[in-house]
Amino acid sequence: MLNLKKESLHPKAASLKCKCLSCNEPLEMATSADGKSEVPEKGNISICIMCANVAKFDEDLCLEPLSEGELNHIKKVDPKSYRLLMDAVRLIKERNHG
Ligand SMILES: [Zn+2]
Repeated sequence: MLNLKKESLHPKAASLKCKCLSCNEPLEMATSADGKSEVPEKGNISICIMCANVAKFDEDLCLEPLSEGELNHIKKVDPKSYRLLMDAVRLIKERNHG
């Protein structure tokens, strides 16, 4: 389950020093949608909990943009994670506008 509460995020990821590509919010923590990996790895997907921007981690665990093609790829090979991702984006956007 995807949990957006900060308390649920892994402390090891707290040393990340990257910023959201969209709103510039410092990325201090990360979590994974499936709850399996404890620290982000290259290629893992990140959602900004401030603005719902979706990005992926590069080899330095900094964020880089996720293309529509990559998003479609996730949708194809991992529809469950894709749905969780889209749910999270929708929840954050609803929160921001509500
Ligand atoms: Zn953001």
